[in-house]
Amino acid sequence: TVIPSKTLANRVEMPYVGLGVYKMTDREEALQAIAKALEIGYRAIDTAALYNNEVEVGEAIRHSGIKRDEIFVTTKVWNNDQGYDETLRAFETSLKKLGLDYIDLYLTHWPVEDKFVETYRAIERLYEEKLIRVPGVSNHHAHHLEKIFAKANVLPMVDQIELHPYLSQEELRAFCKEHDIAVTAWSPLGRGKVLKDETISKIASSVGKTAAQVILRWHYQNDVITIPKSVTLNRIEENMQIFDFELTSEQMTQIDRVNKNERVGQNPDTFH
Ligand code: NAD
Repeated sequence: TVIPSKTLANRVEMPYVGLGVYKMTDREEALQAIAKALEIGYRAIDTAALYNNEVEVGEAIRHSGIKRDEIFVTTKVWNNDQGYDETLRAFETSLKKLGLDYIDLYLTHWPVEDKFVETYRAIERLYEEKLIRVPGVSNHHAHHLEKIFAKANVLPMVDQIELHPYLSQEELRAFCKEHDIAVTAWSPLGRGKVLKDETISKIASSVGKTAAQVILRWHYQNDVITIPKSVTLNRIEENMQIFDFELTSEQMTQIDRVNKNERVGQNPDTFH
């Protein structure tokens, strides 16, 4: 299976499905999961300074034998490193840990009040210096993005937000689309919570796919990039087998209707 890519605002291609590696802190487990993913066709890895596995991500990439420019690496600046100079320093540390000479996508992890605009300005500078291929943010609401628009020359090209059928984020998705910002869904499966949903299970059995595949396909048909996390080899594989079937508009609408505006993670307006 070849995972298709989304063309971002600056024409860079980002795979629609990548491997999320949050909580992969066991070294061997992380190395093995990432190696397997790359072997079967994943070409994007989503890490963060917070996840404490940038070293393993870099190692797994080097050991894969796949050319660097065929792999899309995302990492993020953590909250206590925000601000202009701090972000530039945090980036250096991430680059060293990954053992890379550039990063594909660099994100502000959360919009730390009074700092996220300066943090983004540093990301913009890294983009101008060609140390990253794409500038972006995570967990930014429209009002955060608007503050950035007022100060930035190059607008964020990706916003990575919590998004799954129980938190469908219709308004923020529409806002991002209007500004040519690609949306990436974190916890695309609602950390496993949405897998047991009755409507989704019914659709899954009628199309002969798993609930996880139906959810990830729903994201894809909504033009949303996903980064499902698993360390289980057959699930890693299952999560990329979503390009050989299609949900009808009726099925898409049924899934839209299970939204409850229910988060599994923190709210960007009240996080701590
Ligand atoms: P997820 O929705 O990807 O769910 C992961 C859970 O679902 C795991 O417990 C896994 O065992 C289970 N699972 C995965 N595939 C399955 C399958 N096919 N069948 C059954 N169960 C399956 O949630 P997540 O890990 O929170 O999010 C994914 C990634 O998003 C993270 O690894 C990380 O990279 C990113 N993330 C980013 C932020 C942020 O603030 N930017 C926050 C959380 C997560």
